Amino acid sequence: MTDEQPLTKTLDFQLDIQSDNEGLLYDATLEARRVYNETIRLAKDGVDWDVIPDRVADDANLVKNTTQRVVAKALGAMENYYEYDGFNQPSHTKDGAYPLRANYEEGYNLSLTDDGDVAFRISAKPYKHVKGVLKGDGAHLDILKTALESDKWKIGTAEALFHNENAELHVNVTNTEQTVRDKQDSRTVVGVDVNEDNVALTALSGDGVEGTLVIDFPEIKFERHRYFTMRKRVQNAGKDSIHDTLEGREERFVRDRLHKVSHHIVEWSGQFEKPCIVFEDLKEMRDSIDYGTRMNRRLHHLPFRALQYYTSYKASFEGIPTGWINPEYTSQRCPMCGHTERANRNKKRFKCKNCEHQDHSDRSASVNIAVKGIKKHQDWNVPALNSLPQVRKVRRQASGAVDAPTVTHPTVRGYQADGRVGVSY
Ligand SMILES: [Zn+2]
Repeated sequence: MTDEQPLTKTLDFQLDIQSDNEGLLYDATLEARRVYNETIRLAKDGVDWDVIPDRVADDANLVKNTTQRVVAKALGAMENYYEYDGFNQPSHTKDGAYPLRANYEEGYNLSLTDDGDVAFRISAKPYKHVKGVLKGDGAHLDILKTALESDKWKIGTAEALFHNENAELHVNVTNTEQTVRDKQDSRTVVGVDVNEDNVALTALSGDGVEGTLVIDFPEIKFERHRYFTMRKRVQNAGKDSIHDTLEGREERFVRDRLHKVSHHIVEWSGQFEKPCIVFEDLKEMRDSIDYGTRMNRRLHHLPFRALQYYTSYKASFEGIPTGWINPEYTSQRCPMCGHTERANRNKKRFKCKNCEHQDHSDRSASVNIAVKGIKKHQDWNVPALNSLPQVRKVRRQASGAVDAPTVTHPTVRGYQADGRVGVSY
């Protein structure tokens, strides 16, 4: 397979609604739920799919093409069920909000303001608009502002929805000049294990492990803890404005460092043949399953999604695809024999209770992530792993330059700091 995919990104924003009618938007998402349910119900009743859109649109209290987008999404879910799935039939009896899906310049509109913000206007109901400005991550806002001003980007559909009772807008943008290689057409899978103070990368091809790099960034952890203490102090003193200033500074610091780390990940991955970068999908984890204290600590200490997002974004500009895998057991499984047990791992040390294989625990996790990436996305087999190459460690300094490794660990099979100064790749 050699298909090239268009470079499409979904940008997430919070809605700062200034037209004082948040309730109208919420009502519209309830109406979208009714439209979705009605579509599914008619499809289950055997009504011809060609007549469903008009039939549903006649009764819907939404902008017409917004109704059509919601109907199309519901029919897409039914089609998926019939063609690929065969179980998990879409429900037509759920209640609550459903994302309001709208076409750009029809159901919603965006514009740059004189203040440098992005203003939105969502047609929640016919002739009734919700207006305000978008808030959110700087990286997402930067791309959207570029897209609004450049011919190279096309703004597509968006979804207005409520997440934890906050109104959000998720906007699809496509770069019309850049393409990304299909991830199924990869020869190397790079597993990325993100931690509070480092990220571990392992490149795995059909021949075995091509390399492992651990990028340490202890200053991110250090600065986050330092800012946390400072913010607590001024908060207790009732100085909210200073608190907000500190929060802004911390965010800029962390974002800047994460950009550098993500650049490094992409650069390192790019040396391998047809790479695909694979992350753990942490999206649903916070609410759903208890993955143990390690995972909970990781979730609260680092903006994982930001690092994943920056990396994925930078990779796509190099034509490198990215994939996501289920994070279950990635830190407990032995990459050599497959034995999976929580006790295999003790902080940064991994020692298999079955085969006694020892390793840097974050490297083990990155191998497992790469293995899952191959199983999920590739049509070639995971190679048998008999030995693993040495872990190379580098450290990101505050200047952004890469410096000598600073940690020396006891040498165990397949794992030692290599004492190299700088990086060569
Ligand atoms: Zn083992």
